[in-house]
Amino acid sequence: MINSTLEKILDRALMGYDLSSEQGLVLLQQSDASSIAAIRVTADKLRQRQAGDTVTYVINRNINFTNICEQHCSFCAFRRDEGDEDAYWLDWTAILEKTQDAVKRSATEICMQGGLNPAAQINGKSLSYYLKLVKTIKQEYPHLHLHAFSPQEVQFIARIDGLSYTEVIAALRDAGVGSMPGTAAEVLDDEVRRVLCPEKIDTATWLEIVTTAHKLGLHTTSTMLSGHIENPEQQIQHLEKLRSLQQTAINQEYPARITEFILLPFVGQEAPKPLRRRVGRDQPVLENALLLTAVARIFLGNWIPNHQPSWVKLGLPGAIEALNWGCNDIGGTLMEEHITTMAGAIGGTCMEVETLQNAIASLGRPYQQRDTLYQKIGTS
Ligand code: SF4
Repeated sequence: MINSTLEKILDRALMGYDLSSEQGLVLLQQSDASSIAAIRVTADKLRQRQAGDTVTYVINRNINFTNICEQHCSFCAFRRDEGDEDAYWLDWTAILEKTQDAVKRSATEICMQGGLNPAAQINGKSLSYYLKLVKTIKQEYPHLHLHAFSPQEVQFIARIDGLSYTEVIAALRDAGVGSMPGTAAEVLDDEVRRVLCPEKIDTATWLEIVTTAHKLGLHTTSTMLSGHIENPEQQIQHLEKLRSLQQTAINQEYPARITEFILLPFVGQEAPKPLRRRVGRDQPVLENALLLTAVARIFLGNWIPNHQPSWVKLGLPGAIEALNWGCNDIGGTLMEEHITTMAGAIGGTCMEVETLQNAIASLGRPYQQRDTLYQKIGTS
């Protein structure tokens, strides 16, 4: 038996209404098995209605072009200082070789992000370096979709070169960037950000850069780093900010919008000790991630229909389970993943297409290859 308040909220969601933050919070505060089961069933029904039964995937490759970074996010096991033994910075040849390999393996997308390396400049300009990254790939492989550079990287370029966000995003778009990862969002709450990523852009700046991208015709994804120091109120406020960002893009008829929501549960195994100690565990708690996955579907689904779990963070079995909790997409093959793997994630660095297809089929749901912007590719 579930309590009547919860029942009313879930009924409202099934009738197609958006939930208020207070109602979303009630969902996150449930702890008994029957209430959580009812939330899961609601999320699954809404997923079916809003996105269908087919589970999509994208064939893509990650290229993290450097791990040298000027910042010191407290969750980050990827960053290095210049001169550290395992610091790296890929040259143009290596970037092209990785792209060529991706094309050979049928990739339609290169996902490119890197550390904030102040030395990454050409003729004293940060933007010139980033434009060369884009052109190096697009000149050889114009058909590849380049999903590149987080809002934090946009702000880094703008700050170093004294440019506006509009100037940076328009230049990257014109050079061939096809969409922007909605990473660096972590939790959009400045209190949390002061602990997690004190040198990163604040909440308002993240929202401003993503809205600017939408106005300029660059689609973005949206993410949330969960399961560290944030509380349920902050989780719901984060979802509320994403929903309102998408509502603005749609209501104002901007040429682009948020294509998907990706939940990224925190992996602490190799994270810097202070945060790891404070969180007190090395791997995400699957049950917590699944409840948040379901609540995100219920809260955002009218506006952001595509929801993706992270097989890198949860492992493939955990990500497949998330497909029963509101997700309709399993993400990409990645071919190479450094950022989370260096944090001690159990999911691995690469997924073969067949492995993803078989895992989806094990649920009795059809699968479908898609491109970055959720257009179907091929027949299955
Ligand atoms: S999360 Fe990104 S910005 Fe923060 S330290 Fe790591 S690489 Fe640098």
